Amino acid sequence: MTWSNAQDQTPRSYTCGYCGKVVASNKGYYSQIDSNLRVFVCPNCDKPSYLTPSEQVPGVAPGNEVKALPPDIETLYREARNSVAVSAYTASVLTCRKLLMNIAVGLGAPASKSFMEYVEYLSANGYVPPKGKGWVDHIRKKGNEANHEIVLMGRTDADDLIAFTEMLLKFIYEFPSRVPVVP
Ligand SMILES: [Zn+2]
Repeated sequence: MTWSNAQDQTPRSYTCGYCGKVVASNKGYYSQIDSNLRVFVCPNCDKPSYLTPSEQVPGVAPGNEVKALPPDIETLYREARNSVAVSAYTASVLTCRKLLMNIAVGLGAPASKSFMEYVEYLSANGYVPPKGKGWVDHIRKKGNEANHEIVLMGRTDADDLIAFTEMLLKFIYEFPSRVPVVP
């Protein structure tokens, strides 16, 4: 513990937004005005989180790490996940869309198409497993707003698109990297 005068307090269990571990901390600080407002120091990574009965800052990034990603894809995927942790849901959805468009172009799709055309390309070319087609319909329904219309996205929209992106990244990059390539 590197924090000055950190106090003992009633332990609380939470998922640390920095290191991703489920921890139980009893060290930190509390507000003198409202004892529900607390800062807990993570016993694993030593970083502080602000917790109230209904809020946690920083929040927890949804989705899981994917191995064997090209550096640009890895950075964008992490940005999309971390955006959710700071409640930037629209930014997360836009980042995921950008990511899926880049992946499709990298796999041979023509440039300058719409987001939905790229999702269709990934589906039509075998990058979405047969039982993942329902996801394509779901993403299509969410993604068909007019080009210049501003549509704010919510937590569920961002979580869904990250789950879909994670599945594709695993199929396209991680799993092929784990077995010898068949010529
Ligand atoms: Zn931590």
